Amino acid sequence: MQLRADTALRERAARVIPNGMYGHQATHLLPPGFPQFFSSAHGARIRDADGNSYIDLMCAYGPNLFGYADPEIDAAYIGQLRLGDTMTGPSPLMVELAERLTARIGHADWVIFCKNGTDATTMALEVARATTGRRKVLTAYGAYHGSAPWCTPVKAGTLPEDRAHLPHFLYNDIASLEAAVAEAGTDLAAIVASPFRHDAFFDQEEPTADYARAVRALADRAGALLIVDDVRAGFRVARDCSWSKLGVAPDLSSWGKCIANGHPISFLAGSDSARKGAEAIYATGSFWFSAAPMAAALATLDRIENSYYLERLNDLGNRLRRGLDTSAARHGFSLKQTGPVQMPQILHAEDPDFARGFAFAEEMLARGIYLHPWHNMFLNAAMTETDIDQVIAAADDAFPALRERLSTLAPHPGVVALMSSVAG
Ligand code: PMP
Repeated sequence: MQLRADTALRERAARVIPNGMYGHQATHLLPPGFPQFFSSAHGARIRDADGNSYIDLMCAYGPNLFGYADPEIDAAYIGQLRLGDTMTGPSPLMVELAERLTARIGHADWVIFCKNGTDATTMALEVARATTGRRKVLTAYGAYHGSAPWCTPVKAGTLPEDRAHLPHFLYNDIASLEAAVAEAGTDLAAIVASPFRHDAFFDQEEPTADYARAVRALADRAGALLIVDDVRAGFRVARDCSWSKLGVAPDLSSWGKCIANGHPISFLAGSDSARKGAEAIYATGSFWFSAAPMAAALATLDRIENSYYLERLNDLGNRLRRGLDTSAARHGFSLKQTGPVQMPQILHAEDPDFARGFAFAEEMLARGIYLHPWHNMFLNAAMTETDIDQVIAAADDAFPALRERLSTLAPHPGVVALMSSVAG
């Protein structure tokens, strides 16, 4: 595997892009041998700028649900692009998509379309505050809700004031949430819940049904709203809001990532309990009315409603989890595979500084598998059993190579720094 074109692009990028790359793709957060630039993607595979092809277990960090370049969804997108995309006002598709989504998402009576997950989570706070006339919004320690000043995990360039009135609680811990609710008192506008704990660097954790019900009851008792941030998990674990599985309906839910199979659109969904607030805020963006992503979202919804994609993702995920566990055990390693099988977090036991995780990811990359050393991954419905078996076979070959390297592994400084900034 050679990365000559990628190296040349990195050198050029270093001159014209801060640090050569930013955010979760920042060059210091991935193993040094990982490619930064990709030229094409089809189905389950991505091809880097040097022409190396990988089975991609990241699915673009979530947006790809039915496989890259899905012919039907992309045909809907391209068809609308030819008719008109970003126009002076929205196309009729906007109303159709809003109708379809409010019919599909149990708690939703209205939606506001936007572009990124951060738009939707930020708007959720505004709507909650506008609805209740209160200030405090509770979020779980370490939970990711986007990169705006109120929620970015890196504090540079933000003020303590940006985070004023945003106290924390421990995820899945009713006593901790009760204490935070009591502390906020009559100023509590909302509680934000991740559908499950999917924080980078940590094992994922499903909430108990008791916890989810307690969040709802505590919000109700305080006269506050419940927000579920479904940007990452939405439609990947249920054909409805993720907490519908636990029988709990939020007032607001934020969505993005896979809702148009990679085309840029996100939305905030709300129930009538939050409609007044949604009508009061000023919400807009130059591209928020673009029609082509809405056409792609409608085609994606068709597939969500008319295929067994969820069941398929579940089967593929179980196959992967079982296969990797067996392979790790065969070679004397132990993996911590957590969370829903279709959104696997795969960390290594005895690996506090991720040195093993990084080395394993490098060994897998060399064998044609793109996986992530510290972020949860995503399966897509274009993957086949053969693809999953290929991942397992690569692991079977990578573990002995990892063993050879164990005595020389060193912590990865960029990740240790990011971890401590998130923890702080
Ligand atoms: N919320 C969650 C749970 C997310 O996972 C993300 C993105 N990883 C966001 C919000 C922000 O979404 P975006 O990057 O599209 O702004």
